[in-house]
Amino acid sequence: MVKTFFHRDINKKREDFLSWTEYFMATAFLAAKRSKDPCSQVGACIVNEDKKIVGVGYNGMPTGCSDDQFPWSKTAESELDTKYFYVCHAEMNAIVNRNSADVKNCTIYVALFPCNECAKIIIQSGIREVVYMSDKHAEKAATEAAKRMFDAAGIKYWQYIPQNSKIVIDFTEINWSKQPTDVHLHENIIKEMENL
Ligand SMILES: [Zn+2]
Repeated sequence: MVKTFFHRDINKKREDFLSWTEYFMATAFLAAKRSKDPCSQVGACIVNEDKKIVGVGYNGMPTGCSDDQFPWSKTAESELDTKYFYVCHAEMNAIVNRNSADVKNCTIYVALFPCNECAKIIIQSGIREVVYMSDKHAEKAATEAAKRMFDAAGIKYWQYIPQNSKIVIDFTEINWSKQPTDVHLHENIIKEMENL
């Protein structure tokens, strides 16, 4: 019990690091936290063949279209007062936000399986692979259409099943060796272990 809790061998390569897939998917999920959408916060992260992130995005209103003035609701008397005409999806934003000349042969990591509109943009941008977390809208025609287009265009897509359901970001962790309580705890644990 004690051994696994606080023990860290500072002379050995650590084992509790993120895999590439976890890292890219977590980046998509972190970007999603920026979204103002009351229902679905969705993020996307584009990675090139060298495993470098070249674009990140989340669902939001177009630049210049105020988050406070444009509607966020799913239903309204007039279609014009729903979000659907206005919100840019995460995939689209990640592609247009790219910091590289293009995204040819890249992989896009997305929280949710892309809709048909995003599928078109993904295909046209040259992205070759889609890694998604959730396919909760699998029954929707938009998702079926997206899959039909991906299949025709030869875009590989697969669902990421995470090994851990949570990744915790702890801003205080960087100072772990400077925290007196941690150090004392650590020393006590080592002493306890030596006495075992
Ligand atoms: Zn979309």
